Amino acid sequence: MPTYKRMKFEQAIQLIEKLEQQHRLTEAEYLQLLQYRFGTLPEWDDKSEEEIETKRHQLDEQLFVLARKHQQQVFGNRIYVRGLVEVTNYCKNNCYYCGIRRENHRVERYRLTKEEILECCKEGYQLGFRTFVLQGGEDGYYTDDRLCDVIRDLRSKYPDCAITLSFGEWEKESYQRFFDAGANRYLLRHETADEEHYSVLHPREQELAKRKECLQNLKDIGFQVGAGFMVGSPGQTLAHLAKDLMYLQELQPHMVGIGPFLSHGDTPFAKEPNGSLEQTVFLLAILRLMNPRILLPATTALATLSQSGRERGILAGANVIMPNLSPMAVRKKYLLYDNKACTGTEAAQGMEDLRRQMQAIGYEVVTDRGDYPES
Ligand code: SF4
Repeated sequence: MPTYKRMKFEQAIQLIEKLEQQHRLTEAEYLQLLQYRFGTLPEWDDKSEEEIETKRHQLDEQLFVLARKHQQQVFGNRIYVRGLVEVTNYCKNNCYYCGIRRENHRVERYRLTKEEILECCKEGYQLGFRTFVLQGGEDGYYTDDRLCDVIRDLRSKYPDCAITLSFGEWEKESYQRFFDAGANRYLLRHETADEEHYSVLHPREQELAKRKECLQNLKDIGFQVGAGFMVGSPGQTLAHLAKDLMYLQELQPHMVGIGPFLSHGDTPFAKEPNGSLEQTVFLLAILRLMNPRILLPATTALATLSQSGRERGILAGANVIMPNLSPMAVRKKYLLYDNKACTGTEAAQGMEDLRRQMQAIGYEVVTDRGDYPES
């Protein structure tokens, strides 16, 4: 067990207040805060389980109250929805944590045609969605020509909508073509900002430097960019999480997608424990204080981990949800992890349920594009 610096409750609160005022901490301070909340500290030795839990609960509450204050100041009680279309579950990569990795031969592979993608978006538009997120593995069939063709059609049919892509790593020229064809946003999680940890999660042929270069290229082109990481992934330490926060502090993305690591039975990480709800919502609140304007999804992984996961995420500062618009027939084939939530409800019914869930905690699902507020 690593030796942690002694820290008092009041000091942890001071760090949260500093983050709220300055929107940044040093890496050492992020680590201290995470250690106080999640580590085994020397000062806990003479405390009962109950006392420790009470302190941690108090810390969470202080953090969540401040995160909600900033969420409300910028966005009010508005929750943006993004309609997710899972375009293809073919992928040339082999990330150890992913259920649709190349070497998982038990997956039934599919790819949607352009017509099917347009059909999903049409249904989404009728339901009020004004952002479409097209997501898929790195599938050789979907060349930049083919993707540009889909993007151009969507752009001309829905000039009022935002088009978000999430198709992994490409050369800068391809990203530029997607942008010129009409895409506005790109999601590419960095997964971990630590080289060594990156190599625990990915085979040798995948490199963190390349991932970071892609994110920078996307920003330079003018995309609204989303980065992010898994919480509780195999081999992850609190120091890795502090490094992730520092990386995001430097990159200043417009969106950050974080969700708990959830294992998939047909991957090398099948037996690894899942990430925790507490750690994920704590980090969501920190991200909200780092950048009050950030677009922050309460992810499907969070909703999968716990029935109240989505609500807990919103109450910790998240402001985006991404319902599934993919055809029912393919949803069970796009499983990055086991027991994924929201695979069994039609889009319209799903939206109704979400509206009710959000209303119950005082929030309102809105249908506008929800761009990153520039000021
Ligand atoms: S995480 Fe993404 S890049 Fe990695 S195997 Fe899965 S779909 Fe492919």
